[in-house]
Amino acid sequence: MSNNRRKFWGWGMEGVGLTPQQQTNLAKRMESQFNLTGLQVDPPPKLEEIKLPKSKIEPPSGLSALCTNDPYERAAHTYGKSFPDLVRAFQRDFSIAPDLVTFPRTEEDIINILDWCSSSSIAAIPYGGGSSVVKGVEPDVGPGYKGTVAVDMKHLDRVIEIDTTSRAANFQAGIYGPALESALKPHNLTLRHFPQSFEFSTLGGWIATRSGGHYATLYTHIDEFVESLRLITPTGIVESRRLPGSGAGPSPDRFFIGSEGSMGIITSAWMRLQNRPTFRENAALTFPDFLSASEAVRAIAQAGLYPSNVRILDQNEAWFNGVADGSVAVMVLGFESADHPLDAWMNRALECCKDQGGVVPKQGEEKTQNQHREGMAGAWRDAFIGMPYVWESLVAMGMISETFESAITWERFPEFHNTVINETKKVMEEVCGGGFVSCRFTYAYPDGPAPYYSITAPSKKGSQLQMGAEIKSAISETFIRLGGTITHHHAVGRYHSTWYKKQRPEGFGRILTAAKKVLDPAGILNPGVIVDPLR
Ligand SMILES: Cc1cc2nc3c(=O)[nH]c(=O)nc-3n(C[C@H](O)[C@H](O)[C@H](O)COP(=O)(O)OP(=O)(O)OC[C@H]3O[C@@H](n4cnc5c(N)ncnc54)[C@H](O)[C@@H]3O)c2cc1C
Repeated sequence: MSNNRRKFWGWGMEGVGLTPQQQTNLAKRMESQFNLTGLQVDPPPKLEEIKLPKSKIEPPSGLSALCTNDPYERAAHTYGKSFPDLVRAFQRDFSIAPDLVTFPRTEEDIINILDWCSSSSIAAIPYGGGSSVVKGVEPDVGPGYKGTVAVDMKHLDRVIEIDTTSRAANFQAGIYGPALESALKPHNLTLRHFPQSFEFSTLGGWIATRSGGHYATLYTHIDEFVESLRLITPTGIVESRRLPGSGAGPSPDRFFIGSEGSMGIITSAWMRLQNRPTFRENAALTFPDFLSASEAVRAIAQAGLYPSNVRILDQNEAWFNGVADGSVAVMVLGFESADHPLDAWMNRALECCKDQGGVVPKQGEEKTQNQHREGMAGAWRDAFIGMPYVWESLVAMGMISETFESAITWERFPEFHNTVINETKKVMEEVCGGGFVSCRFTYAYPDGPAPYYSITAPSKKGSQLQMGAEIKSAISETFIRLGGTITHHHAVGRYHSTWYKKQRPEGFGRILTAAKKVLDPAGILNPGVIVDPLR
């Protein structure tokens, strides 16, 4: 039952999560999987158990109406939603809570907040929905600042204009996914960007992190939908032109998309829209193994078919999520259009699958309008939506539950995948005495896939953070050593900073630092994210 307030320590609304019976079942499953006994599920933290540090700063009188040091707000703005965030919350450790939380209502408010922070050596952390899984919103800024302020964008949530002729709309950046889509529905339009975190994340957060949404191919990242941007930096407003395309120098939009609150606060954006789809074709297939399934994905991606969904789950991922029995890999395939039937696309994609040993389990159900809600596809969909609640229950029973995602070109993928799986098993064995790893593709391109690895491993309460960090470090090093990216869509934040710096060209790092010095000379915006703290 929901209490109508977001949890300050985890995913979703207070009171929503696995039931006690579901938690017991999960604990039993973990005990049998890892040969454990007596797993206890810790209760989540209560606000009265949290000892927050005393707030070190006072807002100037002109801003006090926008600021609060309310304990719930400070606790709720301390962490994002990653594994280490959940562990620290269950440890009742909120020692890095922001000193204040601000809720600007206008751009003018944001200008005033940034002016105050710049002149008073206070770090300002832009905050959308707080669903970051890379320590993007935590006010861990080092000793160079007199205090920290979370800048929560939730009141800048208006739809400013809808242009049905060009099919674009201008939104304020603090709008959440469901509100954005509800505003478009009466116009038969959609942004069709549905990250798994859709319900509790904002447009500004998506743009700031280059989030990955609904589409498994073609329009994978939010980047493709941004027509123009407006943001406030400590040295002024930057706004790009609305254009369908432009060849005029480096793209200002592309510079700020993915800047993760380090260069400015995005206040609004014109977004490209689509008509709501009416034609759909869906299918679910099994494959003898994951690499055959991945070859089918490559064939589909390189045939220019651009399915909206072409997720594949390895045997472990399919088994763990109740989609199949663990003997086969699974593909969930879907096409959609507002304009034309899709039989031809689906038929051709099924041929690509059959060439690689893909089988439709129930003959005659190759192509259905609603199979995404039934059978294997439906089981996957339900598991996907419920996953965040499973993660928090796993943490509550002292397990390690983490995800890692990358992208790599096709010719290197088999070697990359085998090495990542082997090294992940090895490090989990060394650190935890064992563990479970699974893989799925979240997105696929003509030149390579974006593999997504999930791990579950036994741990000890009190050592979860350190054991998890050893595994995180080993897998991240492997990604970089093998030529992959440290993130396909989860972003960089503070969590991936070490490996991001190894991945990006050194000269590009200097460009980013120089830009930061121009836009944010006092270095107050999200220090330590994308660019090292300037102080
Ligand atoms: C259960 C779960 C599922 C997820 N699924 C996906 C997924 O499918 N795809 C995906 O890409 N990611 C996913 N994520 C990660 C996360 O949801 C995304 O990174 C999302 O884009 C963050 O949006 P937010 O509004 O919550 O931003 P926040 O978490 O509040 O902030 C993220 C970063 O953006 C900055 N920021 C926020 N708003 C602004 C602004 N207006 N201007 C400038 N900077 C800003 C913050 O400072 C921070 O660095 C998932 C996370 C969880 C917990």
